[in-house]
Amino acid sequence: MPKKPGFSPEHAEPSVKLSARGVARLQGRHPWVYRSDVAEANDVPPGGLVRVLDLRGKFLGTALYSSSSQIAIRMISHGSVADLPALVAERIRAAIAYRKELVSNTDAYRIVFSEGDFLPGLIVDRYNDVLCLQILTQAMDATLVREAVLQTLREELQPAGIVERVDARIRELEQLPPLQSRQLWGEKSSTVFSMNDGVRFHYDGLEGQKTGAFLDQRENYAAAARYAHGEALDVFCYQGGFALHFSVNSAAHSALHPAAKCSSVIGVDSSRPALEMAEKNAALNGREMEWIEANAFDLLREYAAANRRYDTIVLDPPAFAKTKRDLEKALGGYKELNLRAMKMLRPGGILVTCSCSYHVGAADFFEVVADAARDAHKSFRVIENRGAAKDHPMLLNVPETSYLKCLILSVSN
Ligand code: SAH
Repeated sequence: MPKKPGFSPEHAEPSVKLSARGVARLQGRHPWVYRSDVAEANDVPPGGLVRVLDLRGKFLGTALYSSSSQIAIRMISHGSVADLPALVAERIRAAIAYRKELVSNTDAYRIVFSEGDFLPGLIVDRYNDVLCLQILTQAMDATLVREAVLQTLREELQPAGIVERVDARIRELEQLPPLQSRQLWGEKSSTVFSMNDGVRFHYDGLEGQKTGAFLDQRENYAAAARYAHGEALDVFCYQGGFALHFSVNSAAHSALHPAAKCSSVIGVDSSRPALEMAEKNAALNGREMEWIEANAFDLLREYAAANRRYDTIVLDPPAFAKTKRDLEKALGGYKELNLRAMKMLRPGGILVTCSCSYHVGAADFFEVVADAARDAHKSFRVIENRGAAKDHPMLLNVPETSYLKCLILSVSN
């Protein structure tokens, strides 16, 4: 009979032995060990708890095992784990407590962020009274673990509904049976949420177009809104995150232009469904705004050629570098976008420029934006150098938890 995860390692004894390189990774406080660094795996069920040992058999801690992922080992504790569902419940409560301390002015935020909350493979987002769960690994998919997750979320947060968003590709990679996105608990799967002093958005967890928000940008919306002024262009606007903050957030006075708020905001995206939702979000906030469906590269080229000028421009493209191999091409893309935007800024203008590619490091991004400024023959002040919101915790020794870069720049001349 296959062993179930969650048993005490004293009773169930699956174990792995790591190569010296694998041990060094754990000593560096990184929770992942690749399959190539697993020297020996004994009797380990897919998704099971394993005792992690060095080559001599010295105990290093307890991990979640994946039989299919290149990341074979994800550490869950440097000690023994007697009861995985209980440990998961305890970590979820700790993650919720952390948000209570650090998150304010919003009813939408990430409650559990995988490694960042020491729960590898589990993501939970809150949109007001609806919770959205994502399960990314075999271990988190185990029935007893799922039950513990649901029960803890219900007890701690009393949601009106819990939905599961399924990424078919991830389930395939983890060799898990296919699943559809579905309601896990309660009736409610859509709602309205608000962030940063009341900018409101629709959320629909299951029907039609997925409307999950980029919650990692929440604090950056508020920061950018403090400097935004005049005529603004939100490029790669999705459902209007930055654009709506610029036109709705009346509490946010422009820090550099106290008299000015945005007089107009245009959102640009290539996805029609995203723009339709952006328009609905604008209506929800009592605003009418212009949304343009276009390829951002073509549009910026065209606007630059037509000598259009703006006071505030946001660039928040999708991850251009999905793998390390894409790095050069990705940098070329960032350079082009930033250069065009910089040329179009009026004196005193604000550029909010982002990258969510993990493979483009902060230093790479800084350099490519600086390169663009050189070619635009303009000097910029870095007003703020930002990352993801605090509900997306970053682990000091796990670079993969730090991926979002957001620079807020002002043109000095
Ligand atoms: N700024 C948004 C998130 C942007 S995500 C927010 O804060 O919510 C990236 C967006 O880029 C997606 O909405 C996607 O539809 C859009 N996109 C991707 N390629 C594009 C292109 N070439 N031109 C315009 N939009 C594009």
